Amino acid sequence: MAKNELDTRFSEFGTVSFASVTRVNDFIGHLEAGKLTGTRCAKCAKIFFPPRAQCCECFSSEMEWFEVCGEGELVSFSTLQYAPTGFTEETPYTIALVDYKDYKVFGRIDGSIPPEELSVGMKLKAVPSRTSNGHLTYLFERSPAR
Ligand SMILES: [Zn+2]
Repeated sequence: MAKNELDTRFSEFGTVSFASVTRVNDFIGHLEAGKLTGTRCAKCAKIFFPPRAQCCECFSSEMEWFEVCGEGELVSFSTLQYAPTGFTEETPYTIALVDYKDYKVFGRIDGSIPPEELSVGMKLKAVPSRTSNGHLTYLFERSPAR
């Protein structure tokens, strides 16, 4: 990419992208390569998901990428019957918070899992995916998959 070229990779994230340019654009390249990633502070080891370019603990900008892998535990979920602008055609869908021990990941549950089959504490894994309009995203699937 040329030095003065605007890096708008983030405009390809999610059904509706609210920020096209960020300092964590590599997140999108990682998703395209099939990896969901967050950042870890190289100085104090604090972990961030979603990824951050600066540490709120020690104010360092030395961040390293790590891959969200393995399974997490479902902490909370909610099925949306009404959605914000841009998401209304996708309702109902279920959002969730999944605990990976050192960090938590917020995202959407794969539509193949009916909400009545969800329960707090169940094992889920985040998997890179595409939205209905072709943008990059990630979804929570059962772990291990059935
Ligand atoms: Zn830090």
